[in-house]
Amino acid sequence: MPLPHAWLDDVRPSPYADQLALGFRLLRFARPLEREYREYVRDDSYDLKRIALGVGMLIWLAFAAFDFALIQAPEIWWMLGVRLSVLFLLVLFAWLLVRRKHVHLLQPLSLVTILALGVGASLVVGIAHRVDPSYPYEGLLLVCMASYFLVGLRLFEALACSLLILLSYIAAELLMAGVSVPRLINNSLFLLFGNLMGAVGCYLLEFKSREHFLISRLMRVLADHDSLTGLHNRRSFNRQFERLWRQAQRERCSLALLLCDIDHFKAYNDHYGHQAGDNALQRVGSLLQDAARRPLDMAVRLGGEEFAVLLYDIAADQARQHAEALRQTLQTLDIEHAGSDTATMLTMSIGVACIQPAESGALAQLYEYADRALYEAKAFGRNQVVA
Ligand code: GH3
Ligand code: MG
Ligand code: MG
Repeated sequence: MPLPHAWLDDVRPSPYADQLALGFRLLRFARPLEREYREYVRDDSYDLKRIALGVGMLIWLAFAAFDFALIQAPEIWWMLGVRLSVLFLLVLFAWLLVRRKHVHLLQPLSLVTILALGVGASLVVGIAHRVDPSYPYEGLLLVCMASYFLVGLRLFEALACSLLILLSYIAAELLMAGVSVPRLINNSLFLLFGNLMGAVGCYLLEFKSREHFLISRLMRVLADHDSLTGLHNRRSFNRQFERLWRQAQRERCSLALLLCDIDHFKAYNDHYGHQAGDNALQRVGSLLQDAARRPLDMAVRLGGEEFAVLLYDIAADQARQHAEALRQTLQTLDIEHAGSDTATMLTMSIGVACIQPAESGALAQLYEYADRALYEAKAFGRNQVVA
C-alpha cells in the first residue's frame, strides 16, 4: 500500500513524519514510537475489551445451554466442567477490567483469555464429537474472529493465538478420536481459510490504526508548533503555562518568564529582505530552543519577532543570568545588521520576571511583569536585560 504523503517533506523533522515517510508494511515502528503506539492501543482499546468480554461471556453461556440440548450423554458433565473453568477465568479478567487496576496486565490477560476460550472450545468440541460427530465445531472460528477484531490484539498476537487454537482443536480431535481423519482435515481446512480472511482483515485494520496514530500525533505537533522556527506557538504556550503554573503551585517552586524581542527587526527586513529576516528568526529560534533544554522549560514564538522562554523552578538571579547569557550568545553570533541604531549586529532586548505561584496572585501577573521589564529594556536603549 503506497502512502501518498508528499506533504511530509514540508513538516520534517518529526519522528511521526519520518515513520510515515518510511512506511510500516511489517506493522512495526522504530523503537520509541512502537512503545508509544502500544500504550496508545492499550488505552484506546480499553472499552473495546470490556464490551468484548461481556459479549464473550454471554455467548459462552449460551453455548453451554446449547450443549445440554445437543448432548444427552454423561460427557456433558466434562463439557460443563471445561466451560465453567473458562468462565471462571473470564470473571477474573472482568473483575480486573472493572477495577481499572493492573492496566499493564491487560494485554497479556487478553491473550490468555482468548487462548483459554479457544482451547476450552476445542476440548468441548473434542469431547462432544465422541458422542455426536455432527456437534458444531464452527464456534471455534468465532473465537478466532474475536482475537482478530474484538480484543484489540495486534496482528501477530492474534495470528499466534488463532494458530494455537487451531492446533489445540486438531490435538483434541486426535486425542478423543471423535471424528474420522478425512473429516478432521476438512474441518481444519475450513478453520484455516477462515483464519486467513481474519488475518487479512486484521492486517488492514492495524495498518490503518497505525497510520491514524502517526497522522493524529503529527497534527497535534503541527497545531502546537510554529512552522518557521519549530518552537511552541502561542496557543501551546497558553495551555502549558497554565499547567506549569498549577504544578509550580503544588510543588512550591518558582517560574521565570523571559520575554525576548529582536531589536529593530523591521529595519532588518527592510535592509536585507524578508527571506533573510526569516533565516534570522530561525537562528534566534534555535538559540532559544537550546536555552530551554530541561524537560519542563519551554521556548515559544509568541508571534513576529517576539519570543518567550519559560523556565521552571529557577531563582530570580539565575533567570536573569540565563537571559544575559542568551542576549550575549545572539550578539556573538554576529548576524550583521546595518540598519540598526543600537549595534552593528542583530541584538535583542529581554524582560525577565520571576514569581512563586504559591505566594502571589494571578498567572497573568508574571506575563505583565516580564512585559513591563521588556518595555523598559527597549526604553533604556535596547540590547539589554531588565529584570
Ligand atoms: P523594536 O526594536 O522596537 O522591537 O523594533 P522592531 O522593528 O523590531 O519592531 P516592530 O514591531 O516595529 O517590527 C517588527 C517587524 O517584524 C515587523 C515585521 O516586518 C517583522 N516580522 C514579523 N513577523 C515576521 C516574519 O515571520 N518574518 C519576517 N522576515 N519578518 C517578520
Ligand atoms: Mg522588535
Ligand atoms: Mg515586537
